[in-house]
Amino acid sequence: MKQKPDIKAFNETELRELLEEMGEKSFRAKQIYRWLHIEKAESFEDMTNLSKTLRQKLSDQYELCHLEKVKVLVSGIDGTRKYLFRIAGGSVIESVLMRYQHGNSVCISTQSGCRMGCQFCASTLHGLERNLTSSEMLEQIYQIEKDIGEKVTNIVLMGSGEPLDNFEQVLKFIEMISDAHGANISQRNITLSTCGLVPKIRELADKKLQITLALSLHASSDETRKKLMPIAKTYSISEELDACRYYFDQTGRRITFEYSLVAGVNDTIQEADRLAALVKGINCHINLIPVNPIKEREYRQTDKAAVQAFKSRLERNRINVTIRREMGRDINGACGQLRNETMKNL
Ligand code: SAH
Repeated sequence: MKQKPDIKAFNETELRELLEEMGEKSFRAKQIYRWLHIEKAESFEDMTNLSKTLRQKLSDQYELCHLEKVKVLVSGIDGTRKYLFRIAGGSVIESVLMRYQHGNSVCISTQSGCRMGCQFCASTLHGLERNLTSSEMLEQIYQIEKDIGEKVTNIVLMGSGEPLDNFEQVLKFIEMISDAHGANISQRNITLSTCGLVPKIRELADKKLQITLALSLHASSDETRKKLMPIAKTYSISEELDACRYYFDQTGRRITFEYSLVAGVNDTIQEADRLAALVKGINCHINLIPVNPIKEREYRQTDKAAVQAFKSRLERNRINVTIRREMGRDINGACGQLRNETMKNL
């Protein structure tokens, strides 16, 4: 049986064209778009200002993408909420809500699984299952907004998956979530994190979006980076940094470098100096992440004092640097671990 097209995948212009083709008045597009992206309707039946006939016609011809909430873990410490959603095909994905003074930040998945193979990451252990659609990304935000009865203000594309390995769908998601007639989340409040697909970073730069680019650097030499991240065998750090400079030139957006500190691998003071020298002259900010150990690998966290020393050393070199605050410590398996556990029991 042929799958029906997903109605949430259409932006407002496309939706108008679609309704005109159906012989409907174009203002219906505005109404339907509102139902989908503001009211977050879960069925055509809910769209009460449309005629019964039109609702029937739409449900005969279109799918309305919906994610089923399988589990929510709530932190007793800081209110962080970890969500597991079931996607079409039966498997599950993770999203995380972090509550800050300045608003609600959600970390979404862009793929089910991942094929990038970073050594310390739980999301990649079973490879890539499939790309998520733009609607499945929107739904992670919509479901969480419904669950807490509040708006999401910030989004990070840092859950399972490599966003630039699912380029078209991720771009569509960004376009739609920042649409003034939809959720209207400012692009400046969206961060896309990549392990470093250089040509795609350049392609993204050419789109001149206002989102923040975060590059997972994690090492100051190609040799060490290759041990941690297979992508380093394809692109050198110098190629990565050139692409980041290009991103800044095209967008004017400050770059974030992520650096997960792994004990005995990339956390020496010499490494901090090399890192400072590498990024000198780039308008950037470094985010240090004490590695979150996964049981399948031997990696250990750098101890607190050494993390501080690494940070101070960067500061002495006049680099903007923060240590990522650990949220939801009591529910905080590394990204992707909850998903892996659940998949085993499906
Ligand atoms: N594919 C994107 C998004 C992945 S997750 C990317 O590679 O950037 C977001 C960040 O968390 C990345 O910097 C990733 O390298 C890092 N990360 C993944 N697993 C981690 C772990 N167990 N401990 C610390 N950082 C981790």
